[in-house]
Amino acid sequence: MIIILAPSATDSDIDELVNNLKERGYGVHLSKGVEKTIVGVIGAHDDQKPVLAEQLSSLAYVERVVPILKPYKVVSREFKPEKTIVRVGGVDIGGQKVIVMAGPCSVENEQMTLEVAAAVKAAGASILRGGAFKPSTSPYSFQGLGEEGLKILATAREATGMPIITEVMDTRDVELVARYADILQIGTRNMTNFSLLREVGAVKKPVMLKRGMSSTIEEWLQAAEYIANRGNYDIILCERGIRTFETYTRNTFDVSSIPAVLELSHLPIVADPSHGTGLYKLVPPVARAAVAAGADGIMVEVHPHPEKALKDGAQSLTPQNFSLLMKDLAAVARAVGRYV
Ligand code: PEP
Ligand code: MN
Repeated sequence: MIIILAPSATDSDIDELVNNLKERGYGVHLSKGVEKTIVGVIGAHDDQKPVLAEQLSSLAYVERVVPILKPYKVVSREFKPEKTIVRVGGVDIGGQKVIVMAGPCSVENEQMTLEVAAAVKAAGASILRGGAFKPSTSPYSFQGLGEEGLKILATAREATGMPIITEVMDTRDVELVARYADILQIGTRNMTNFSLLREVGAVKKPVMLKRGMSSTIEEWLQAAEYIANRGNYDIILCERGIRTFETYTRNTFDVSSIPAVLELSHLPIVADPSHGTGLYKLVPPVARAAVAAGADGIMVEVHPHPEKALKDGAQSLTPQNFSLLMKDLAAVARAVGRYV
């Protein structure tokens, strides 16, 4: 449930209320907005709620007590009406600027990673992406360079100043990946790996949670709630397409999830048109659509030689095409009151 405080509530009223709730064993999340202060209460059982609501309503500085009926609470808009801005290495995700994360699908070697990193930075990207632990449908395809790949990403960060985002697939690797990465990525295949979600929830690094390829928006937000419940509120959601009967595209990019998530949750949302379409020619138009729909960022795969890429060459942009996309995105962002 959430407690909406009266405009007259003072700091000491808020302290008193928070202590009162903590003494009863509840988790408390305080959201101090410009207009309203909202106190979120976590852990109250359904049978305790009516009595608790009645008791709290008797306080003069409480305006209203509202139950949250959704299956996710901490990540919901009711719980925190203001948008969350995830701050990483001087980059704000969720603010006015549309953040572009770009880089190769997989870190293949140091030379190509440094080459792509320099090119995407020059074109205006803010964050470098690259997979070191690769989830592969086929056990025979490239599985990533592992820790060596993380080291190469760290070198590219040093060379360009860009924060790095990379996927962690296994609970046993969380500590290792968190040592190198600025943002931990949870891939589509792991969105319902609840042990992994809990593990990254305990890390003090932002997490980007990709939508499960067969997951509803509600299931996706519940997965985010697993992370938030462990105390990590720095969560970025990423729409990357879902499975439908369509086979021409790799996935069906769900552009409608972007405004839906922005309404349901305070978390920032990024779009991945590369995995969303699987076809490089479709990446720019879908990226533009995502920005027009309100996405806080875009994640795009870029490879200097897509024809030689170890993974996902068909959906990778050349640095030149990426540069053209950045110019297009600037125009779309301007049209919706943002910038790139
Ligand atoms: C990726 O971004 O490298 C990736 C594997 O994406 P997804 O989990 O969306 O398939
Ligand atoms: Mn890929």
